[in-house]
Amino acid sequence: MKNLQTKIGLEIHVQLSTASKMFCRCSNNAEKAEPNTLVCPVCLGLPGSLPAANKQAIEWTIKTGLALNCDIPAVAKFDRKHYFYPDLPKGYQISQYDEPFCKGGWLEIDGKKIRLNRIHLEEDAGKLIHRGNQSLVDLNRAGTPLMEIVTEPDITSAKMAGDFLRHLQKIVRDVVEVSEASMEKGHLRCDANISVNEPSHSAQASRDLGLEPRMSQIIEIKNLNSFKFVEKALLKAEEKLSSEYPDWPTKLSKETWGYNSNSDSIYLQRTKEEAADYRYFPEPDLPPIKSAEFDLEKLKSQILKTPEEKLDELLILDIAETDAGVLVSNPAKENIWRHLMDLLDKTYYPILGRAIVNNYFPFSFDESDWQKSSDYAQAVKAMATDNLSKNIFGSLTKLIHEGKSYTDARSELKIDEYGGDIESIIEKALADNPNEVERYRKGETKLLGFFVGQIMKETKGSADPQLVNRVLKEKL
Ligand code: ZN
Ligand code: MN
Repeated sequence: MKNLQTKIGLEIHVQLSTASKMFCRCSNNAEKAEPNTLVCPVCLGLPGSLPAANKQAIEWTIKTGLALNCDIPAVAKFDRKHYFYPDLPKGYQISQYDEPFCKGGWLEIDGKKIRLNRIHLEEDAGKLIHRGNQSLVDLNRAGTPLMEIVTEPDITSAKMAGDFLRHLQKIVRDVVEVSEASMEKGHLRCDANISVNEPSHSAQASRDLGLEPRMSQIIEIKNLNSFKFVEKALLKAEEKLSSEYPDWPTKLSKETWGYNSNSDSIYLQRTKEEAADYRYFPEPDLPPIKSAEFDLEKLKSQILKTPEEKLDELLILDIAETDAGVLVSNPAKENIWRHLMDLLDKTYYPILGRAIVNNYFPFSFDESDWQKSSDYAQAVKAMATDNLSKNIFGSLTKLIHEGKSYTDARSELKIDEYGGDIESIIEKALADNPNEVERYRKGETKLLGFFVGQIMKETKGSADPQLVNRVLKEKL
């Protein structure tokens, strides 16, 4: 059925990493807290308690909207969405119904614009923990700010849905920096809906006959908690819907399915879902919010570049494409890049990129390293101009990391005497003593001392023994 067209829409809940909860001052970091310790009358939903909206959460939602090309309406409001569930003590969730903070917008995936419907802000519910025949409730998470991003059904394949999510994760985590966005930890949760449509010529033929084109049912898959599961579940649903063609219903129908990752299969949860009636009404305890209360220009200026923009910039600087890809997707490596690039001439960028991406720095950078940026930059330069090996470069930067200046580290390693070329001295020692190499490789490891001695003789005792040991072991 190769001409059937798949349409996928996503609803993504993103947990914001604000310091406090959405409508009270309780801590929003429940990761290590004992159950029900981060609670107060507001998030417990006690009668008479009054919510106050978290300004940071609103600002971050608007900032995300600006990064995703949304319109920011002049006025937004909160509404109550009523339903009963044991993890929702108030009996309603404060959400946004018809006046969200962000409307429209889009995100480009593989050259295709995926339209967004809206982004709204709401509070999370608590957690139910099932143990045997007992169910326990933990309300630490109740009231956590959740940003809900809703797309139009513009996604045309399971793979594109995965790409969309991965891209969105980068944006909320690295571009607007509002969430840790870990799917495993539940910061990013995805519901997907999928339908399959007739090829356009059959649809046209139906219309010519005055009939509605047929469409498969819509399958909604809830609570997908990894990118891989989103893709796999959607593939299964697509397969099922396509196989039912041309016996599709003439009336629109919707089913909710779940995904079982152990058996890689989907299973029916609910059929004939009526549109739930949540009895939305405006939250009387929270006044409408005007976007004029926020400095949109300032928020725009805080939006960092998208991964694509960063990638383009790096490619223009002649960074190898694979290195550039790593730099933009690894925040720690990108951080090193940003600290060192300004101190170097453009001609050294490719070698800097290679050194960072391939872990030529044999330690992890910490805050104190940025005071030594210019020493590291000189080491990178020396790698190019003095043709330093990866090993020597590693020893040199490790000494800098441990507190030496570039100049001291350089003289300690006798780079100027051997041109940093301890490796070729070692290689020569190995080539001159093939029998000993053979014996070492057969297990006579005490011969290591013999080689060290040879090299020390050659360098008149001035080579760094630790370095010699390390390089020797590698070569042997
Ligand atoms: Zn609270
Ligand atoms: Mn929601």
